[in-house]
Amino acid sequence: MKILLIGSGGREHALAVALNRDPNLTELLIAPGNPGTSQLGENLPVDILDGEAIAELAQERGVDLVVIGPEAPLVAGVADAVRAAGIPVFGPGEEAARLEGSKAFAKEIMAVAEVPTAMARVCTMMEHVADALDTFGPPYVVKDDGLAAGKGVVVTSDREEAVSHAAACLAKEEGDRSTKGQPAVVIEEYLDGPEISLFCVCDGRNVVPLAPAQDFKRAFDGHQGPNTGGMGAYAPLPWAPDGLVEDVVARVAQPVVDELAHRGTPFIGLLYCGLALTSRGLRVVEFNVRFGDPETQVVLPLLKTPLGGLLLSAAKGRLTGSPLRWSDGAAVAVVLAANGYPGKIRTGDVITGLDTASALPGIDIIHAGTRARGANGDSIVSAGGRVLAVVAHADQPEEARTKAYEAMGKIGLEGSHYRTDIGA
Ligand code: AMP
Repeated sequence: MKILLIGSGGREHALAVALNRDPNLTELLIAPGNPGTSQLGENLPVDILDGEAIAELAQERGVDLVVIGPEAPLVAGVADAVRAAGIPVFGPGEEAARLEGSKAFAKEIMAVAEVPTAMARVCTMMEHVADALDTFGPPYVVKDDGLAAGKGVVVTSDREEAVSHAAACLAKEEGDRSTKGQPAVVIEEYLDGPEISLFCVCDGRNVVPLAPAQDFKRAFDGHQGPNTGGMGAYAPLPWAPDGLVEDVVARVAQPVVDELAHRGTPFIGLLYCGLALTSRGLRVVEFNVRFGDPETQVVLPLLKTPLGGLLLSAAKGRLTGSPLRWSDGAAVAVVLAANGYPGKIRTGDVITGLDTASALPGIDIIHAGTRARGANGDSIVSAGGRVLAVVAHADQPEEARTKAYEAMGKIGLEGSHYRTDIGA
């Protein structure tokens, strides 16, 4: 099985590690990839938003499956272009990808499919924002309708901040948005209670859940600071209520997949259900249409079922009901962020200690924002906000956590920061 994986972040490196373990994999191509994926397959330059170019590359190289990692190409319709060329692709088409590309669309689907979520108002004019904020009261939850790289949501008790975020979202020009038509902002009820992420592999009709995970969105320890793309994660969740996964599939994922199939825009790919276990029951916080980052880094190391075969079955509409196999262990991922992240970041600093850290037992270093530099490309420097993740796998959660921080202690990057309470 030859696989072409699209993307260059931590999620794609984690996917590449898992795909590489599939005994049926014969060749792995990653476009464009990063210094981490170059150790596992061939990195190829490509514009990830250019569906025709990706379809051509897949044809030229005779791949059996294209796996699209990030949301931007999915929302831009890259999966449609690849599918039109007759190549199996794991990733939804443009229309189904609107589940992530437009929060207003996700709310519409949830309403029709009777999926539990926060009550919300979609506003397209500032005149309606104050009324919506009053309806739900503080803490205010204000969301950009379109894609915003994890930075579109503001949760605040400061009314002025809520209003100014709404204004910023509504002022966006069409070229800066993933949505067409008028800009919109979603204002919704605050959801209390712990959050969990559940990945569901979908083939257009059937839903196969992976293990639930928890990610840490805020920048600093104790859930302080601004929201980020994710500062760490762990899996499995020993505290998750019995039957949670079955409940999410029955009440959330399956109804959404059924509704999209009914509309003639089947969901083939990864439906990421972001959920809150509130005092009033299960609620959807958000959907993503691809693997989450950094949850992928902790869920996939626990999966024993070969990943390539699973994703290929989904892409071909042939998922079976046979249960997935899992390891009994636990995994913890801690993200190393660049100086200034999630604000203005500094890049180009040398990262030290990577070999020492990755030589420790049960440790994987997953590259995200890194770049190879030097004559032999042997010096690795920072090139993004979330630079890398240290992923530890062990029999017990506490052991995985200790190992992850021990490995992180070996890595040097000037001015960088990481949370010290992941999985605590
Ligand atoms: P989203 O992009 O919709 O997942 O939002 C990012 C983060 O904002 C979530 O993971 C939550 O931590 C927080 N958030 C989003 N919606 C709500 C809500 N209705 N109530 C409380 N927190 C929320």
